[in-house]
Amino acid sequence: MKERVNAAGQPLKYHFASDNYAGICVEAWQAMEEANRGLACSYGDDAWTEKACEQIRELFETDCEIYFVFNGTAANSLALASMCKSYHSIVCHEMAHVETDECGAPEFFSNGTKMLLVPGENGKIDLDAVEHTITKRSDIHYPKPRVLSVTQATELGTVYSVAELQAVGEMARKHALHVHMDGARFGNAVASLGVEPKEITWQAGVDVLTFGGTKNGFAVGEAVVFFNKELAYEFDYRCKQAGQLASKMRFLTAPWINMLQSGAWLRNATQANNCARLLETEVKKIPGVRIMFPSQANSVFIEMPEQALAALRAKGWHFYTFIGAGGGRFMCSWDTKVDEVAALVQDIRIAMQL
Ligand SMILES: *Cc1c(COP(=O)(O)O)cnc(C)c1O
Repeated sequence: MKERVNAAGQPLKYHFASDNYAGICVEAWQAMEEANRGLACSYGDDAWTEKACEQIRELFETDCEIYFVFNGTAANSLALASMCKSYHSIVCHEMAHVETDECGAPEFFSNGTKMLLVPGENGKIDLDAVEHTITKRSDIHYPKPRVLSVTQATELGTVYSVAELQAVGEMARKHALHVHMDGARFGNAVASLGVEPKEITWQAGVDVLTFGGTKNGFAVGEAVVFFNKELAYEFDYRCKQAGQLASKMRFLTAPWINMLQSGAWLRNATQANNCARLLETEVKKIPGVRIMFPSQANSVFIEMPEQALAALRAKGWHFYTFIGAGGGRFMCSWDTKVDEVAALVQDIRIAMQL
């Protein structure tokens, strides 16, 4: 494959663009390879899918109902739709992926459920703002609040603590809301907190989690985990209608078995987090740059002068500035190497001296 270059003829460096630029890790790849031996029942009626569900129940140490879909947008929007009628509303952070990056899919699949946006520092919902939003009106003209949605780890690379999630759960209970957790980077949150997965999900009151595989090193696929099994009623039909029921399901589910059994899911997340932490530590030493949010998962948001960002781009570095709140977002993945972090730090140092 021909190497891609920028206008200055520099090879494009994609290492920190996004955690979905990375390939498939060996544990996920091997599991697909092993599942690729002959015939198996289709549409999830196979031994791998059954085992993957068992494995996820074991991980969360509870009974739960699990579905596998192709991507996070489907996982989130179908999960949200399963909890809402069209006249309901979903309260989420103003920078939540479900609001800013899913092209209206939650509204579409729920036939019009409205998103109610709340602010909050560091990408976490402010619970006073949540309470204000859901109590300021109770008349029939206001879309009835039904779900509180949080992202763990957040879009800004921060992580809700156990106590913060317990407070989210309490707020939801107080107002009879369901709790949805967008866990596209759930592994990074678990690795960051060093807790048992149950502590930041069902024990804190989460009803449904979308558990991300793709950014964790899978080829494709996310698991929708219903701790509140009543909410999973006819969810299989939702998946099918939305074009999210894989006929060769075993290739979506076999990797979950190996990733969880081998511990690779947590190792991958830890590697990504450690690289981000290293990047943050090193960049903090450079005069004139500002770390925008505490780096608690696998991203670092760095504010620097526009000309420094331009100089980095001229050197081939590819990164996003449109996600979150401006600045450059540098994202580490399971495949990020310490050397690559060092190379980026070196170029930021040079760019800041121009
Ligand atoms: C990546 C991501 C998703 C999933 O996005 P898809 O591209 O639909 O797989 C969901 N939520 C968050 C916070 C994400 O970063």
